[in-house]
Amino acid sequence: MTRPMAVSYGLHWAAKSQVFKEIAGGRCEYIYSDGSRCQEAKGLDSHHNSYANFRNESVADITILCRYHHEKTHKNLIAR
Ligand SMILES: [Zn+2]
Ligand SMILES: [Zn+2]
Repeated sequence: MTRPMAVSYGLHWAAKSQVFKEIAGGRCEYIYSDGSRCQEAKGLDSHHNSYANFRNESVADITILCRYHHEKTHKNLIAR
């Protein structure tokens, strides 16, 4: 079954998440408790801080995280 809307959003999102990664300097944006930032540049994901603007995300809605910190963030959200 083809879902053209989902496909076109997927392409749109891929381009958009690439832009967010560039804004983040191509690095994970996780900040450690000592104030230093994670320097991971591989396996970066776009994490939604909010889905309020889903499909129309702005920079403030997205945090770029490496796979490790992305998983950690989601586990913390669930644990809360
Ligand atoms: Zn996420
Ligand atoms: Zn990280």
